[in-house]
Amino acid sequence: MAVGPRALLYRLRALWRRREVDVWYDEAYRLPLSGLEFSGVDPRRSDFAAWWLRESKAVAPAWWRTPRRVSYADLSRLHTPELLESLSRPEALAAVFGVDPSDVPVDEVMRTVRLATGATLEAAREALRRRRPQLNLLGGFHHAGPGSAGGNCPVNDIGVAVVTLRAEGFAGKVAVLDLDAHPPDGVAASLATDPDHWIGSLSGSDWGAVPGVEETLLPPGTGDEAYLEALAALLARMPRSDLAFVIAGGDVLRGDRLGRLGLTLGGARRRDVRVAAHLDRTPSVWLPGGGYTPHAWKVLAGTGMALSTRSLEPIPEDYDPLAARFAGIARRLPVELLSDPGELTADDLAEALGMRPQRQRLLLGFYTAAGLEHALQRFGILEQLGRLGYGHFRLEFDQAPPGERVRILGESDGQEHLLVEAVLEKRRVAGHPVLYVHWLMLRNPRAQFSDRRPRLPGQDVPGLGLAREAGEVLGLMALRLGLAGVAYRPAHYHTAFPARDHFAFVDPARQGRFEALVRDLADLSLLEATRAVDEGRVLLDGEPYAWEPHEMVFWLREAPHEVGEVAHERERARFTLGPPQARSDAPAGP
Ligand SMILES: [Zn+2]
Repeated sequence: MAVGPRALLYRLRALWRRREVDVWYDEAYRLPLSGLEFSGVDPRRSDFAAWWLRESKAVAPAWWRTPRRVSYADLSRLHTPELLESLSRPEALAAVFGVDPSDVPVDEVMRTVRLATGATLEAAREALRRRRPQLNLLGGFHHAGPGSAGGNCPVNDIGVAVVTLRAEGFAGKVAVLDLDAHPPDGVAASLATDPDHWIGSLSGSDWGAVPGVEETLLPPGTGDEAYLEALAALLARMPRSDLAFVIAGGDVLRGDRLGRLGLTLGGARRRDVRVAAHLDRTPSVWLPGGGYTPHAWKVLAGTGMALSTRSLEPIPEDYDPLAARFAGIARRLPVELLSDPGELTADDLAEALGMRPQRQRLLLGFYTAAGLEHALQRFGILEQLGRLGYGHFRLEFDQAPPGERVRILGESDGQEHLLVEAVLEKRRVAGHPVLYVHWLMLRNPRAQFSDRRPRLPGQDVPGLGLAREAGEVLGLMALRLGLAGVAYRPAHYHTAFPARDHFAFVDPARQGRFEALVRDLADLSLLEATRAVDEGRVLLDGEPYAWEPHEMVFWLREAPHEVGEVAHERERARFTLGPPQARSDAPAGP
């Protein structure tokens, strides 16, 4: 959780060698789509990269730039009125991002898109003015054309920037180097009539000839060395330009669901360092493009490091950006803000005298409702709920034996909805006092289930897309309360799976079987996997396997775990997929 000595050394070296680069970023770069993670996109990618670049000091405080939303006048220079009009409809944006229309708060999504596009435009102006590289932490929407949107690209930020600069009198040569794993069809369409441009691309997907693009198609699993060779050849053919756009795609990574090139993080960094050196005297604007693995943010952060320090040093393996960020915020939260000062109010006196019903004043004997609400505000969670369309939040505590219940309610369209419900208890697990989570529900009642957003076992409405944040908050609460960890009983595969980085089953053999299950179901999506387990279609050593909802714990200090026993069971257990079985209804609960 904390930054170790290796990261500290890293910061010092980074400070020593860095060169100036402007970095464009806004907290609203996170797309407010609660179902986005379902399609494999982590909406936190820009945040994670920004937090790392800030914390590692690879980017100096003075280099951060805040974007402004691009105007519809500038968007209209490239895009047809029909396309721009369609983007005011949830159905059109839902199709672009692969989510359900009920999940699209149009104005907030367009705010994100317009901020990113405004940043690419302003970064291009700044690159020409200041002649130093610019990095925009969202953008490179290379599949959108003048009259078409798709593939996570609602508008074409590069196209809008070029057309606008041309209107402002820029007559120099523009080069676009597209290193995303997919071809720049939308960039080619957007620049088709531009008088002086070149587009080069390295792709791992064969979409046929893309007119106007110097395309190198690489086979699946190309890997670092062959990729870097092809890059060198493309750079040798790249003409000198007066302004370059680089799409430093994150979907080149090995294991990417949509890209097939199979690069390592080190290979992606070498790519960026080489291109940065090649473009040394050319004003350049760098953009992230796609990226569909949990490590995509490291490619983007690595692009920032390549630009500022030319460093090839990896981001420490154990650095978890969300944990580091939340722990930092928690350290700065004063205790007296979270808890009760201990003074009796008139209300307390009235309750004590039996003049009014008792309220539960403290959660777990510590947090006041106002204190917890304040903390959620500081962690940015209420802001996210706000962007999803909720406001006027209210926190409630009451008794729900064997635990205490906390509920977060929020208003939308004049109605109050239950958004979060948790039942918590301090109790001992494996001999240690832990924060026990009997129940945790994250609900987005505005969103609906559909083909794009299927119902997971145990859900009554779709989730909020904030499970990772909730896990970090529970860990920090346990830490604040002096407990050894956080524990819960995952009732389904999909409620254990996302927790697997922090949590482990108390029973080492159970943990071994879980790790074997994750290994053997790796080819299935999370939805397919959890349904297969739930429907009894998964076999353990040939026999139908019933999910074992045992306790999992996130140990905050050290894990009292027998590593050998875990490994033994993991190697022994073999899971396979069998034919559909009679459905056994899994126990209710989270
Ligand atoms: Zn791509």
